[in-house]
Amino acid sequence: MAAIETAPQRVPVLGVGVDVSSDVLAEAIALHGRGGGQIVTLNAEMTMAARQQPELGAVIAGADLVIPDGAGVVWALGRQGYRVRRAPGIELARQLLDHAACHGWRVALVGASPGVMDTLVQRLGRELPGLRLVWSSHGYRSGAEWPDLERELLDARPDLVLVALGVPRQETWIRSLSGRRRGLWMGVGGSFDVWAGTKKRAPVWMRALQIEWLYRLVQEPSRWRRMLALPEFAIAVLRQRG
Ligand code: UDP
Repeated sequence: MAAIETAPQRVPVLGVGVDVSSDVLAEAIALHGRGGGQIVTLNAEMTMAARQQPELGAVIAGADLVIPDGAGVVWALGRQGYRVRRAPGIELARQLLDHAACHGWRVALVGASPGVMDTLVQRLGRELPGLRLVWSSHGYRSGAEWPDLERELLDARPDLVLVALGVPRQETWIRSLSGRRRGLWMGVGGSFDVWAGTKKRAPVWMRALQIEWLYRLVQEPSRWRRMLALPEFAIAVLRQRG
């Protein structure tokens, strides 16, 4: 049976392109079938950062799949007439791990603290026994170690690489390997901390009320300065239409 081709449309939110699609998992799997590429999970904070940091803006523009990770981005798309479901990166990443385990994909994990990475590798081994984890490294290596690590990682020929180094480093690092990498490469922020159990995701009712950001702020008060980008994003979106 022929595969159904889905063609996401890239729509700008404050000048930063995001792909409008009904099924981000299908898009990601199709991208893997085309040889792979970079997946970016866009939220309001990252959109504002991209407007101020041309390097990050260029990385997002050059990404192969940009998914609407944040409620703010979904809201901004809605104001332009695009009704999309929010696609949290942590959920797509987990679905890709499940898919990888079922289809024999070679998986690599990069980032988070050494303790979190150890716990994560053990947990994934238990939770996804079919997972072919071919390479992993925590994210607190010295600058001098990275070239060798990159070579090792590329030599492991992964189908899926999840990268938890924080925004924008994870995105720019993935970009820096383009031309040498194949497979899907995705920045996942704090997902490893959540999967390892050291951080919690907001409860479902808070997610439903679109206030996951508030939960994050209470858990990590040091993020308050970064989070000023959220009202700035809302004001910029409202002004655009006014
Ligand atoms: N991290 C890392 N190396 C660093 C800095 C951060 O591996 O030099 C990890 C950190 O331990 C955490 C993730 O990157 O697991 C970033 O998580 P955060 O929730 O801050 O993500 P963001 O909101 O920046 O996407």
